[in-house]
Amino acid sequence: MLGAAGGVTGQAFLLETRRARVLVDFGAFQGSRAVERLNVLPRGLAPGKLDAVVATHAHYDHVGRLPMLVRQGWRGPVHATRATAQLAELVLRDAARLHAQDLARENRRRARAGEPPLEPRFDETDVEILRPLFRRLEYDEPREVAPGVTVRLVDAGHILGSASVEASLEEAGERRVVVFSGDLGPRGAPILRDPTPFRRADVVLLESTYGDRDHRPLADTLAEAGDIVREVVARRGKILIPTFAIGRAQLLLWWFAAAFRARLVPPFPIYLDSPMAIQATRIHAENLELFDDEARELVRSGRLRRDLRTVRPCATARQSRALNDAPGPCAILAGSGMCTGGRILHHLKHNLWRPDCAVVIAGYQAEGTLGRQLVDGATSVSVFGERIAVRASVHTLGGFSAHAGQGELLAWLGALAPAKPRVVLVHGEDGARAALARRVQQRFRLPVEVPLIGEAIAL
Ligand SMILES: [Zn+2]
Repeated sequence: MLGAAGGVTGQAFLLETRRARVLVDFGAFQGSRAVERLNVLPRGLAPGKLDAVVATHAHYDHVGRLPMLVRQGWRGPVHATRATAQLAELVLRDAARLHAQDLARENRRRARAGEPPLEPRFDETDVEILRPLFRRLEYDEPREVAPGVTVRLVDAGHILGSASVEASLEEAGERRVVVFSGDLGPRGAPILRDPTPFRRADVVLLESTYGDRDHRPLADTLAEAGDIVREVVARRGKILIPTFAIGRAQLLLWWFAAAFRARLVPPFPIYLDSPMAIQATRIHAENLELFDDEARELVRSGRLRRDLRTVRPCATARQSRALNDAPGPCAILAGSGMCTGGRILHHLKHNLWRPDCAVVIAGYQAEGTLGRQLVDGATSVSVFGERIAVRASVHTLGGFSAHAGQGELLAWLGALAPAKPRVVLVHGEDGARAALARRVQQRFRLPVEVPLIGEAIAL
């Protein structure tokens, strides 16, 4: 356990046998400055002795420390699906850019204080070196990634290309199967397939992000979203949606397509105002074979393209600024997802004070973020140091999660339960882990462990 044992970021697990050392994920810690200081190579993880990495999916909290390994001279390989490799490059380039900006600011402060400058954890060159170190691994294709360590990926239904990992370890004539759930998606969500369960394991590491609750049914959320959109269209306002570029942006486009197709509202312009979301959407289009049957059929028939004919990608800053003068009704999808930076801030500044506009929050907003202030009903907020009145309506939609709820986690584990594995709960806040641990013990009568960072599990 090198991360994500008692929190939800910095996921990293080291599989160690006498002959091999393999990392499953090597994510970054995200949050406060104190949390981000955890982004180091853990002591004892000598890059020279690391045989391979298996990446479950491209979220920053699962791949964010890979460029740091590269910076220490490690040269792969990283086994992952093709979509994960493509999306990871996008995520890591963006992270390198943001890190460079942060560091420049911090180093100017240090210079004024007479302190020596800090070195970057990694930069774009490291990401560039990392890119060819990815080895494409298909779902259900077993591969020996190190002596005596064979892995197999299956679809985790969380984001495009996401995987759960089955690792078979052989040592001294004995075999152990360790299953890593990775982040598991909900069932029945559009575009992606449902998570594939496993049938056997000696040990299973199960995520527990929503181990203490179920989500609202997606259908309820969509009905509510329909009401909001109809209302704002009637008053010819703008709908601002702070959007995570990978997964959420595509899901929102999908929803707008469905709403137009069902004639819920007449088609109006949707501005995809995020270079990263535009690229992530392109990567989705390049990996149609990962879509579920319904989504593939809508693409194949050309129907989706027709439904989305009012979508306008805004790649440049000039196109983004031009949206200030765009008439309503329209929707603007822009990052960052929690309003902590990015183009959404400009749109909030120009529109929050307008009563005909609406802000739709369709993702998790962490404590201390501008997005959270809006969710909590602030009547005015500070944007770029300016006080802006909140007269737009603010709506929170809870059902768009990319994570399985408690019931879905239990169902996924149910397929494995007859094999009587040891269950290790990871990737959740303590409360969520404890709640899921109780349910697993009650329902399956299996032993449950809730390890801490740095803890080893003997197989
Ligand atoms: Zn994830």
